[in-house]
Amino acid sequence: MTYRVTLIPGDGIGPEVTNAARLVAQSTGVSIDWEVVEAGEAAIRGKGTPLPDEVLESVRRNRVALKGPITTPIGGGFRSVNVSLRQQLDLFASVRPARAIAGEGTRFPETDLIVVREATEGLYSGVEHWVDRDHSAAETVNVITRKASDRITRFAFELARREKRLHVTGVHKANIMKTTGALFQTAFREMAKQYPEVTADERLIDNMCMQLVKKPSEYDIIVTTNLFGDILSDLCAGLAGGLGVAPGALYGDSLAVFEPVHGSAPKYAGQDKADPVAEILCVELLLRHLKETEAAERVYRAVWETIAEKKVVTYDLALPGYTMTPVSPSSCSAMAKEIARKVPLIDLSAPRPKPTAAGVGPIPSDAALEA
Ligand code: NAD
Repeated sequence: MTYRVTLIPGDGIGPEVTNAARLVAQSTGVSIDWEVVEAGEAAIRGKGTPLPDEVLESVRRNRVALKGPITTPIGGGFRSVNVSLRQQLDLFASVRPARAIAGEGTRFPETDLIVVREATEGLYSGVEHWVDRDHSAAETVNVITRKASDRITRFAFELARREKRLHVTGVHKANIMKTTGALFQTAFREMAKQYPEVTADERLIDNMCMQLVKKPSEYDIIVTTNLFGDILSDLCAGLAGGLGVAPGALYGDSLAVFEPVHGSAPKYAGQDKADPVAEILCVELLLRHLKETEAAERVYRAVWETIAEKKVVTYDLALPGYTMTPVSPSSCSAMAKEIARKVPLIDLSAPRPKPTAAGVGPIPSDAALEA
């Protein structure tokens, strides 16, 4: 059987990391026919718009897509293609696993949690304006609906049930945002009652950030609104080893788009330098979605072995300041080739590897942290 999957290479380092991901997908033996469509800067050049209709049509037709990062102009210019894609395809759940790999680049090698972020509303609704002609005051409207809050909290508890994760934490700021925050909080509490086998608790967003950088291993699934989820997923990517190794997925009722947490990293574009692992782990998530579980597991373990071995790794896993055991850095394409080489050689009968040591320096004791 051949799967037809939409491929959006994206901007900056996007074409390099999606090429790397394709190479690794091919090494699994799963037959994928990639339908390549352009969004972002390439689409502006070719079609005069950053998000042509053919991109949306392709994802709707194929139901599964692999996407590279897309640049968004800051403080002006066109609206984010990423936000438009999520809203137009109703990709309401952004799921970002933060899994430390081989203890590399992290002070918290046991980190294994998932951030579930509502991806269609909140402060990303696009409802914003200048209040006066002088542009001395502005408003961005935080739209929270009960429907979207029910949908995302149900998604998080269903994920917990499916993946046998035992704990879901709802994150909000209901002490200050007494309407929008409270609406999300109420939806979370009522949904939790329907899943008695899963324990649930709540954190205010500020406290959640502090708790995560102290003891990430105490958290399992975190569910929250759009902006808080955006910030927490970058924070958790940092806990688990950095943006270079953090994959993500966007789910709607029948569509799934897989994209890394990182952006287009324009300063590394065209240099064959960026870490391909986040995009390669998107292929792992994509294969799991297609129920190609063995192939997915091979990809995950080949990434793990490559990082643990540290012979062919990119700068962010190689250079002093990023790792305890510096080595000379390899290119993006060399690391992808090494992972692809390992995929068919993986022994799936061996136990899944678990991290044993932290990779960036000594972990302070609890007593030192409390002091
Ligand atoms: P970024 O993720 O591109 O870069 C942040 C830092 O991480 C930079 O130092 C970068 O060099 C490094 N980095 C990122 N990916 C890396 C990789 N694979 N390997 C090694 N280092 C990596 O974030 P930014 O600089 O804030 O944003 C750049 C552009 O990307 C902006 O236009 C932003 O809007 C866009 N963006 C897009 C998405 C998306 O498409 N989903 C997500 C985030 C940011």
